Amino acid sequence: MSQRVVAVVQVRMNSSRFPGKVLKKLRGTSLVELISRRLIKAREVDEIVFGTSTDSTDDELANEIIGFGGKVFRGSLDDVQERFIQAADYADAELVVRITGDCPLIDWEIVDQVVSLAMKTGAEYSSNTHPPTFPDGLDVEVFSLDALKASRRESADSSSKEHVTTNLRMSDSFSKSNLVNEVDYSERRWTVDYPADLRDLESNLPSGFETMTWREIMSKGFEGIESSARRNEGARLGLGQKLWKRAKEVIPGGGMLLSKRSEMFLPDEWPAYYSRAKGIKVWDLSGNEYLDFANMSVGACSLGYGLESIDNAVKQAIDEGVMSSLNSPAEVLLAEKLIEMHSWADMARFARSGGEANAIAVRIARAHTGKDKIAICGYHGWHDWYLSANLATDSNLDGHLLPGLSPSGVPRGLAGTTVPFSYNNAAELSELLKTGEFAAVKMEVSRNFGPEDGFLQEVRDLCTHYGVVLIFDECTSGFRETFGGLHLKYGVKPDLAMFGKALGNGYAITAVIGRREVMQAAQETFISSTFWTERLGPVAALATLNEMKKVNSWEKITETGAKVKAIWTQVFNKLQLRHQITGLDSLASFTLDVPDWLGFKTLMTQEMLDRGYLSSSYFYASTQHDAAHLSKYAEDFEGSAVISARHSSNETIASALRVARSHNSFRRLN
Ligand code: PMP
Repeated sequence: MSQRVVAVVQVRMNSSRFPGKVLKKLRGTSLVELISRRLIKAREVDEIVFGTSTDSTDDELANEIIGFGGKVFRGSLDDVQERFIQAADYADAELVVRITGDCPLIDWEIVDQVVSLAMKTGAEYSSNTHPPTFPDGLDVEVFSLDALKASRRESADSSSKEHVTTNLRMSDSFSKSNLVNEVDYSERRWTVDYPADLRDLESNLPSGFETMTWREIMSKGFEGIESSARRNEGARLGLGQKLWKRAKEVIPGGGMLLSKRSEMFLPDEWPAYYSRAKGIKVWDLSGNEYLDFANMSVGACSLGYGLESIDNAVKQAIDEGVMSSLNSPAEVLLAEKLIEMHSWADMARFARSGGEANAIAVRIARAHTGKDKIAICGYHGWHDWYLSANLATDSNLDGHLLPGLSPSGVPRGLAGTTVPFSYNNAAELSELLKTGEFAAVKMEVSRNFGPEDGFLQEVRDLCTHYGVVLIFDECTSGFRETFGGLHLKYGVKPDLAMFGKALGNGYAITAVIGRREVMQAAQETFISSTFWTERLGPVAALATLNEMKKVNSWEKITETGAKVKAIWTQVFNKLQLRHQITGLDSLASFTLDVPDWLGFKTLMTQEMLDRGYLSSSYFYASTQHDAAHLSKYAEDFEGSAVISARHSSNETIASALRVARSHNSFRRLN
């Protein structure tokens, strides 16, 4: 007697990569109805049930299905397997055909073939995907309901609950059969994981595709869609990566900061988003916990995440109102405080990003001197004035930014106004300043390596001699070795200096401080912005400075950074890896002299992530990294380095990597 065959179509609105996709239309028909129309042609299927959740987010979907005459079963949102079994029971299934909502081109002939195979072989689990030879998106699984129930009794792990057949497929307890196509089309994609996939299908499918078999569709020249998605990506990607892929649909570049892109760390596997951060711990969207041995939010949180004294000051400011038609007194207190810490400075202005503070300083210097040109040595933000350095020749900023970074969109008229010079090369700077065309010299005091032979003093003397404004960009170096600018350590006084990053311990606040004579030029031009007057930034900065002072944070992070450098040195020496360790102790980084450095770095990141760390080839210290963290880190860093070193040739690194190599990150001149 033949078995009752029920197709259960698994659909829901809250797809993590493309929310609401099953109701999206392809050539005027919703994907869910398209599935229904194509599946109804399967001769071996006695009934079709759409299994969705009881959650209110699926109400509209359930109505749509009922609207086109489909049968709906609603069950658990999260335990998809339980919902699936209940739906199959509800329809008295003996043999179940599992179809998912991302396959609008599901093919009735393939469905019939897999059902026939299952009946002929008597296998408890049959499919056309193990291994796959059909295009991705024509996936069919057929199994006995009893087998699925038995597999749930054997293992109801989280993957099986979410992906329904994980254990049934993997377990040796169940007999299997697989439908193989004579030609392997498994590289072709006919599925909808992202909005771009739907756009591709919309424009490339032949007309009348709705009633064509997959072979007929192919005979019209349709091969599949262009996409970066890979087969079974839905099961493979974590929640963070799914959101990251969604982000790239709606946010150019995926996020606002180049250095936080997943591709900079571990493409496809980096957790990408956090749900919570406290101390040096960061929790991702699935609740996994990591120790932050990367850069503590690009150096913004040198006191650790969520420090109560700062958060409480901010909460109080929120209670008292974050903005009004009047100004916030905190900005005056913060100006006085920064001036007190830097005896050469008389005045301050505030902004909310490092790039803004840099642009303000450049404007002030140009207004003060009446000249245009700026000599730079370092990274100073994304604005036109800075990127214009790449207009003159394509490679001017190579040493400062990503090689070849395009100044597209920067007015050509700015070409030649910003000119780089090399760190520790006063002679080169002198040649530039001699022209008398320069308004300012802007530089990071020290970054990868320190000043040699009175270099900073020479720069100071040159600027004084030629009447050029000397600007120290302390956005990153500030508060790392001293309580204030790093220049305090060298005793060389600039005319202007900028602070950012650490100043608010994560709250947005940046500062420009300077000598009165120069700062007054801000009054001869126009520098003004609404949100520079909000209250939280200066309040957070005042609380941050208090806390820094209390714990001597600059000493603590320097000590911790030095210890991490020592761990690296010891591990690399032990493994006989030629290395270079650079940067202030609290902003340390390493590179290795290995055949495939990018591969090595990516593998280290992968290994460290598996051990519970956010990490890369650098470490920005915070006061919350303690001795216990460091000794655990030392062990895990060595473990990861041993594995990476073992694979440290081109071919074997690739085989050890689960993902593509990371992208290259910033390179700097100093
Ligand atoms: N200047 C320096 C020295 C920096 O390190 C940075 C940030 N990396 C900036 C400016 C730009 O700051 P922001 O990203 O806040 O615009």
